[in-house]
Amino acid sequence: MPTLDAMSERLSHYLSYNQIQQVRRAYFYAEQAHIKQVRRSGEPYIIHPLAVANILADMQLDHQSLMAAMLHDVIEDTGIPASALEQQFGKTVTELVDGVSKLTHIHFEDKKQQQASNFQKMVMAMAKDIRVILVKLADRLHNMRTLGSLRPDKRRRIARETLDIYAPIASSLGLNNIRVEMEDLCFHAIHPMRHNLLASVAKKHRGERAEFINDIANTIRGRLKENHIKARVIGREKHLFSIYSKLKSTDKDIGAIMDVYGFRIITEDVDSCYRALGQMHALFTPLDGRFKDYIAVPKANGYQSLHTTLFNHGRSGEVPIEIQIRTEEMDAMANHGIAAHWLYKSETDQTTGSSRAHQWVQNLLELQRNTGSPIEFIEHVKNDFFPEEIYVFTPKGEIKRLPAGATVVDFAYSVHTDVGNRCMAARIDRKLSGPRTRLESGQTVKIVTNPNANPSPAWLDFVITGKARSSIRHYLKNQRRSDATALGERMLAKELNNLDHCLDDIEQDHIDQVIRENHLDDIESLYTEMGLSTIPARNIAHRLLSISSRESLTPSEHDAGLWIRGTEGEIVTFAKCCNPIPGDPIVGHVNTGKGMVVHSEHCHNVQEFRNKPDKVAFLVWEKGINRRFSVLLTLSSENRVSLMADIATATLKSDARLESMKVEDSSSSLVTTTISLGVEGRKHLATTMKRLRAIPGMLRINRIRDGKEAQKT
Ligand code: MN
Repeated sequence: MPTLDAMSERLSHYLSYNQIQQVRRAYFYAEQAHIKQVRRSGEPYIIHPLAVANILADMQLDHQSLMAAMLHDVIEDTGIPASALEQQFGKTVTELVDGVSKLTHIHFEDKKQQQASNFQKMVMAMAKDIRVILVKLADRLHNMRTLGSLRPDKRRRIARETLDIYAPIASSLGLNNIRVEMEDLCFHAIHPMRHNLLASVAKKHRGERAEFINDIANTIRGRLKENHIKARVIGREKHLFSIYSKLKSTDKDIGAIMDVYGFRIITEDVDSCYRALGQMHALFTPLDGRFKDYIAVPKANGYQSLHTTLFNHGRSGEVPIEIQIRTEEMDAMANHGIAAHWLYKSETDQTTGSSRAHQWVQNLLELQRNTGSPIEFIEHVKNDFFPEEIYVFTPKGEIKRLPAGATVVDFAYSVHTDVGNRCMAARIDRKLSGPRTRLESGQTVKIVTNPNANPSPAWLDFVITGKARSSIRHYLKNQRRSDATALGERMLAKELNNLDHCLDDIEQDHIDQVIRENHLDDIESLYTEMGLSTIPARNIAHRLLSISSRESLTPSEHDAGLWIRGTEGEIVTFAKCCNPIPGDPIVGHVNTGKGMVVHSEHCHNVQEFRNKPDKVAFLVWEKGINRRFSVLLTLSSENRVSLMADIATATLKSDARLESMKVEDSSSSLVTTTISLGVEGRKHLATTMKRLRAIPGMLRINRIRDGKEAQKT
């Protein structure tokens, strides 16, 4: 059983006294925190964090990672809050612990391949500091080593998850030692019988061939020595899981797989690698097409080595030999991957985990630049560390991948267009949040829908996915069309009414003829075109009646005007220049293809189109309008302390909505205040203004229309 003192001794080889003291302090803190807990095996809980720290010490990780390893289950299991840890051990260590706890929370359920790869990326994306993943991998490795005390079904579940998620992550970070051990432990947990059988076969085989392997190793050593190449030569054994995978994926039998002998030559420098390779090719017969130069073109995780397969014609016939040749540094990289960077640069203490990762990627980039080979793989690695994507769960545990910065609405549309269109809010990890809330990796998101909810044009300002954007646009366009259809129908009815007719008077044949004349398919689209003001309703009315009666038309005396409610949607909008409100005389400016803008009759902009009948629609306000309209008022008054409060109170008392308030030149004794009010109409405005006028010191109130002030005192 590893002890703290034994570990401290090991740490003294690469950490300072002060750093080791900090690691020890973290140990004692964790020991206290977990004092009441025991592992399932019956041992005190602290055994586990200590073992996790030991695994990281093997990789010579920095003292902060080791402290985080000691403390990694404290937040999760003992109820000690993160804030308490931060006081004791500082922000960085606490963030590492917190990151590991977050990863502990998410559980991988779905067995599908695509999900597994998304899940791997999610783990990557959630860990802002790469050391979080290293601690998590060590944690998982120790849990795998001590699986034996769990129920068989639980054992298999954890092993499956490790094999699907954590071993591939270890592999992508180049942590080969961890990956290999994880895979063998998983193999044992999932298929104990097959594992044991294969283990005994492999052991027997190695025993029989021990002498032979030794012979070849010595031949290699001798040859290198003769040629003054300094190197270590190691016999290499395939791990059981890789033998098992080969058995499953090829039709070779176990003998053929086992009868490949692996050796590793570890040299001092790159030059010696190539010289050693030349010697090996002279010593044995190289197998055609099996040479790979991963020194010139490293693998995606930074792995570098020369690989070659050769034949040895010996006493026992022809046997294949696989040789890997690399430098000490490449070997460390092959075993520890990204962690090797702590190994070689552990003096520079200031470097944070993420800048280590950055450095790692930089190194890979440099390698690529120097060798001049394609750099696509770097993109892949970079995305893992500097994630531009987030991964969130649906309530059913499905993982959705979204670009970083995606909002609740983006998520809703990624689930289904209907969910997006009816989206009101969301529960993010059960907490209610608004539609523009940005999501983070690892969150569980449930959209709150309402059958009456609609996409708002404002959503276009914050959504970032193409799917959400185009769905919202599509919806709004359809909405506009149906608004336009309804308006067009009313416009035609009104024009016919002005001519003392209605649509029922007109024969279907004549209606059809007009539809054809305008190259349209049905009456609906004719309405729509009139609503959008592409075709003037007045012209259509005249045309319909001229076909049916063939008589000259005289407009009725009482042109009734089109009823406007202000709820026609985007097809009827209110001019910003004059802000008309119910009660104001109004006219409509017909904007071909776009609908109608309602102006106050006195607006100076109206004068410009007044004399073009096809541009003007005469309008009247419908009774009982149930919405608010904005008006702008300027208030001139004495400068009093409670002025703003008085204005707010007066508007509140008259049930007007105070939308904005701007005070100009408040330094002088006279002050002008501009307010925007939401009112129902002229009557409501009048009562509100009466209250405002009653404010002590109020001198004058003007309603701003037409960009100018119309005096209204
Ligand atoms: Mn743990």
